[in-house]
Amino acid sequence: MSDLPLIADVAIDLPGRDSYTYRVPETLAGTLKPGDCVGVPFGPRRLRGFVITIERREPPTGFTIRDIVSHQPEVRLPPHLLRLIAWGARYYRCSLGEFLAGAVPAPVREGAAPERLVLVAKVTSFSGTLSKRQQAVWNALPDAPTLLSEACRVAATTRATLDKLAEAGAVTITDDQQVREIRLEARQERHAHTDEQQVAIDTVAQALDAGRSQPFLLHGVTGSGKTLVYLDLAARVIAAGKQVLLLLPEIALTPQLAARVRNRFERVAVLHSGFTDGERADQWRKVAAGQIDLVVGTRSALFAPFPRPGLIIVDEEHEQSYKQESVPRYHARDLAIVYAGQLGIPVLLGSATPSLESVHNARQGRYRVLSLKNRPLGGKLPAPILIDMREECHAQKRTATICRELLTRLKQVKENGEQAIVLLNRRGWSPVVSCQSCGHTLSCTSCDISLTYHRGAEKVKCHYCGTEGPMPRKCPACSQPTLSTFGLGTEQLATQLAAEVPGLSVLRVDADTVAERQGHAKLFQAFSSGAADCLVGTQMVAKGLDFPRVTLVGIVAADRGLSLPDFRAAERTFQLVAQVAGRAGRGERPGTVVVQAFDTEAPALRCAVDHMPKTFVDAELKLREQYGYPPYAGLIRFLWSGESAANVQLVALKHGELLTRVADGCVILGPNPAAVAFLKDQHRWHALIKAGSRGTAQAFLDRVDAAGGLKKEKGVHVAIDVDPYQTS
Ligand SMILES: [Zn+2]
Ligand SMILES: [Zn+2]
Repeated sequence: MSDLPLIADVAIDLPGRDSYTYRVPETLAGTLKPGDCVGVPFGPRRLRGFVITIERREPPTGFTIRDIVSHQPEVRLPPHLLRLIAWGARYYRCSLGEFLAGAVPAPVREGAAPERLVLVAKVTSFSGTLSKRQQAVWNALPDAPTLLSEACRVAATTRATLDKLAEAGAVTITDDQQVREIRLEARQERHAHTDEQQVAIDTVAQALDAGRSQPFLLHGVTGSGKTLVYLDLAARVIAAGKQVLLLLPEIALTPQLAARVRNRFERVAVLHSGFTDGERADQWRKVAAGQIDLVVGTRSALFAPFPRPGLIIVDEEHEQSYKQESVPRYHARDLAIVYAGQLGIPVLLGSATPSLESVHNARQGRYRVLSLKNRPLGGKLPAPILIDMREECHAQKRTATICRELLTRLKQVKENGEQAIVLLNRRGWSPVVSCQSCGHTLSCTSCDISLTYHRGAEKVKCHYCGTEGPMPRKCPACSQPTLSTFGLGTEQLATQLAAEVPGLSVLRVDADTVAERQGHAKLFQAFSSGAADCLVGTQMVAKGLDFPRVTLVGIVAADRGLSLPDFRAAERTFQLVAQVAGRAGRGERPGTVVVQAFDTEAPALRCAVDHMPKTFVDAELKLREQYGYPPYAGLIRFLWSGESAANVQLVALKHGELLTRVADGCVILGPNPAAVAFLKDQHRWHALIKAGSRGTAQAFLDRVDAAGGLKKEKGVHVAIDVDPYQTS
């Protein structure tokens, strides 16, 4: 044995350096491994970090090396995950420790005591009588056994109510060990495939069997049965002793998918934000120990510490929520492709409206396309009706907000005892309050954003920072009582619809009502059980929900997103309209979609309404190529922010000089004030770098580092966003 001390490089959640050097006490010499979570002294503090390397070597000179002081033997990242995280930290330009902190849940890092998991199982054969409320809870419970915390969330109820149901014999509440017996009662899914589904499954299965790393793009219209393809492939991977990652943009809004997964497989973890710290820690350890076969979760589930991942599935791959908007600013779909390449396994991206990036990759031959064009249950996609609101205003001889077509059809829905969904992607009563005497517009004192009027609360609110206050009676600028509201939000839309259609009961689902009533689960459950004729909501109603009685979907101000200063505006509008259109008529009755817009000639709308995705994609890709945007360019955004406008400007311009010096062919837009130049009391400047590709964008960042990097300046924060999605 050598006399040299055992030295470990430890990544700590701090910006800047990737790792710090510590001595490993001899008591840990045999047990400590790379990927282990340890406690280390840092100045006067004690912090947690992860061991990156460990070896016997000369201790560094120039400072006193300190000892690792604690070790959590139960938290060890597998080497393949550590490799992915190292790749991510380099690509997205944060420290290894910062990336690790984003990838490993805090309760795991901080050593939360695992909590014994309690499961709730529905007795599906139960036929006794329950109170109306108990019955509603029972109906809402998934058939498969569910974690207690999740059951409470899904059924919008409490432990006390579930205990009452258990007393009545309608559910059983047990600990983890007894799951197997309960599961025997769970409903099994039928496995009849369409030819298209079979081809998709066989093609991916070939790559699985050959151990080939291959990205697949499963392009399937809404209702074409993508989930069955996912689950069948997952079953193959699990049978081969490997594990499956299923990423979703959003868990709370897709309860049906989670329920199907739980029905089909035994050892499943559905990761969501409703977990207690102890449950989260327990799940993580089970995954790491190989006791879980399939993880369902949002973007951070990509970092589930599986010992042998065999397949990664990214559902709704076009969704923007895969991009994390704080450090580490990774994109989970993009990172999933990298991970699958490193592991030598297939990755399956699914969508009815694939992102332009993925379509481009498929056209370049990097992804293989699998198409599902038919809907086994839902019949034909409805042909949406596009209404020109300029003509509508002319015909109604007033500033019309709801077209006659939509109102007529809502009346029919009401008469037929069916249901409707009306979508408007803006909450509150009115987005603008301004003075008719002097023209002053109410805006947030902390942001460069106009305040939204909320009539129910009689308040004005900033939707960016949350600041709110009472609705003023007089104009704060000229003191005249002449404040008026302009524009339409969901609150006003719901009121108008109820007033225009006699007897129509309207339920509103947006961030406001969800906050008031504790969760969408309750609202969706109410709508599903027929508590209202019409659901009015923001885009959260557009995600993955199936309501069999919905035969009408309306989209109000469908072109609203097109005016945003964002090169993806058209793509998002197209996806939203196409996705929502796919939600109507998924049951046995045919559906209708009514789309209201002022700019009815916009290609994004026309193509979505006419079911012409290829026409849209071709035209949009051409524009992206012409103007040098992804997928034909690599983008980097620098954002400077701080309390002093002068300082922010000074530092941004100074850093901008360095960026320009190393540009070497990259286009540098800015630095200039951001579109939202003042947000949450911070002044903001930004610069956008356009490089020929993602590779040349990385080379640009290397040149920035080689030139000394962007020097830290007091009071000004600079954020680097690689492949940004937010550009305002
Ligand atoms: Zn005024
Ligand atoms: Zn604000």
